[in-house]
Amino acid sequence: MKQGTQEVVVKSCCNMCYRLCGVLVHLRDGKVTKVEGDADCPVNRGNLCIKGPAAVERLYHQARIKYPMKRTGAKGEGKWQRISWDEALDTIAGAMNRAKERYGAKSIVFSNGDPKGYEVYMLRLCNVFGTPNMCGPGHVCSLPRRMGSNITSGLNVETGTDYTPDLDHPPACVLMWGANIAITHNPNYVRLERALDQGTKLIVIDPRKTELASRADLWIRPRPKTDLALALGMINVIVNEELYDKSFVSNWTVGFDMLEEHVQGYTPQKVAEITWVPAEQIVEGARMYATAKPACIQDGNAIDDDINSVQTERAVSILRAITGNLNIPGGEVDYAPLTLGIKQHFTPGKQGTANFMLTEKLSEEQREKRLGADLGTLPLPMAEFVLPQLLVKAILTEKPYPIRVLCVHANNPLITWSNAKEVYQALMKLDFLYVADQFMTPTAELADVVLPATTYLEVDDIANRAPFAVVRQKVAQIGEAWPDKKIINELAKKLGFAEYFWNDVNDVLDSILEPVGLTFDEFRKVGTLEQPKEYRQYERDGFKTPSGKVEIYSSRLEEWGHDPLPVYHEPPETPYSAPELAKEYPLILTSYHQAPFRHSNNRQIASLREREPDPLVEIHPETAARLAVDDGDMVYIETKRGRIKQRAMLTEGIDPRVIGVSYAWWFPEKGVESLHGWEESNINILTASEPPYNQEIGSTNLRGILCRVYKVND
Ligand code: SF4
Repeated sequence: MKQGTQEVVVKSCCNMCYRLCGVLVHLRDGKVTKVEGDADCPVNRGNLCIKGPAAVERLYHQARIKYPMKRTGAKGEGKWQRISWDEALDTIAGAMNRAKERYGAKSIVFSNGDPKGYEVYMLRLCNVFGTPNMCGPGHVCSLPRRMGSNITSGLNVETGTDYTPDLDHPPACVLMWGANIAITHNPNYVRLERALDQGTKLIVIDPRKTELASRADLWIRPRPKTDLALALGMINVIVNEELYDKSFVSNWTVGFDMLEEHVQGYTPQKVAEITWVPAEQIVEGARMYATAKPACIQDGNAIDDDINSVQTERAVSILRAITGNLNIPGGEVDYAPLTLGIKQHFTPGKQGTANFMLTEKLSEEQREKRLGADLGTLPLPMAEFVLPQLLVKAILTEKPYPIRVLCVHANNPLITWSNAKEVYQALMKLDFLYVADQFMTPTAELADVVLPATTYLEVDDIANRAPFAVVRQKVAQIGEAWPDKKIINELAKKLGFAEYFWNDVNDVLDSILEPVGLTFDEFRKVGTLEQPKEYRQYERDGFKTPSGKVEIYSSRLEEWGHDPLPVYHEPPETPYSAPELAKEYPLILTSYHQAPFRHSNNRQIASLREREPDPLVEIHPETAARLAVDDGDMVYIETKRGRIKQRAMLTEGIDPRVIGVSYAWWFPEKGVESLHGWEESNINILTASEPPYNQEIGSTNLRGILCRVYKVND
């Protein structure tokens, strides 16, 4: 902390998304005036994306929820009464205990959103309370990639992060696969830019011409959700042209011979038909990636949300392995985990975290009762979270058992879960819903009790995501807002579990840091901890798989009833799998984030909203001409489940058969009568919650679905 005459500067860690950028928070007379990048923080070295500085506006926004409130009118009527924390927690604990008594603890479900660090506290409470049901978005965001890579090569099992491309050691080639890191991962984007300046070649695989695609040496534009076929086509070229690393393959992989045979069914010509990528481009991409040494693949969320999700990551992991890029400088690196008393980024089944979560307090018998346990997904602890689509159906049908109470922290299911109309019905049917958030979202408007949650500027904490831990320091207090972890801690005490929680939740911070020999007060000065990189540790320890090698052919997947080699399955609602439907809905929908927003966040932050006031749907000019749509027109986008409105943005950067719909829109400025316009432009009015799901982890099919577009004339 630097003391000036009046100004104080405090180190902290941005949480406008979960990339852990270090920040310097400037205060004047006790008020936060500015947030800027911390040049000493190795995560971001002083850089922030456009969301970072807006934390100040978010902190002091007049629409922040400042006090606990209980609903006094009908659900969604907007009638609230301020209550004390004591009354709020008593009310919640009473509702939970009543449901527990009547329907069992499993009738109460906790739900989390984007990782913020409180999730392990929530799991701890689930375990001691006795519910196996914690619901998260991981099945369509990051878990397919983590599980696919873990099963294949064991990388990142310990750290629980996605692959880490070693961009600091400039790779000769970076393959950006469905990852628009210019807006979603600023720390890596800055590193990539530096690498590109030093001559790194760039391949971008994306159905949309993103800023990165415009700068790429090769832009490959697949039909949305055919990535697995594309990866298998690239493997076909690499195998048949013998571009693979023969020494690595023979010493460190299992099942290459079976892969060789398997990919003969994925010739560039066949894959071109599936993906709409010209065969020559598949060959060119495969050669460019496989012959560059070293090379790395940064994959993104586009891999996660369809029936092929986990197996797409398997194929991408196989590409990394057979080209000899695993764990080498400039390839994909793994980090030993930072040894802390907690991993705030939840890693399924890891011991340190499992202990913190008091996993043993929930019996195996009770754990097996979690919703979806019979779905045939990966065994515990790999597929531990309840799938939102199953939770919604269980609330509505009371099968396999009734769900009565939903506890929502930092997420907005009405906007972010698939099949939003169904989600609405489910939220309306609950006996009791509480929502902890910073703003009144459409979901919060349906709650019985709303709790004011803090921003990161109002909490002391250790932000931890391998390979870094970065300090967060409380510099402000808005109303009576509490950090989510404190809400959970105090609720646990009301429920009678004080012995498993803390007098003050911050008491745990010192013990979390104990393994690194620091107290939290000492950590305030240190700011960041970083685990050093280690290359080729597999030569010493083997890969963290049962065979100690990269498992191209996975006997474990076979044993669990899944494809042991990745097989492309056509998603359920495409021109090929549903040709009759395609006559009525001839376009294919993909989706994207607009830069100022993080999921459903930030629409009320004026400086960010000014940059992107409207939801924009990308349409090719030829398609628009055919539909008599001009740039800037409002259009309906319709699937067989419903329709929404967005503003047309014409671009040559998308296939004429595809449109790019903006994700997670609602309108805080619109009144509660419409629940802030939750239905108007919300992409999840269009998406399905029906099977088939991804076999391994249960991903729903959120992109690559059939739709039509027409001009709004009303
Ligand atoms: S990428 Fe942007 S929003 Fe995310 S932590 Fe960094 S500055 Fe904050």
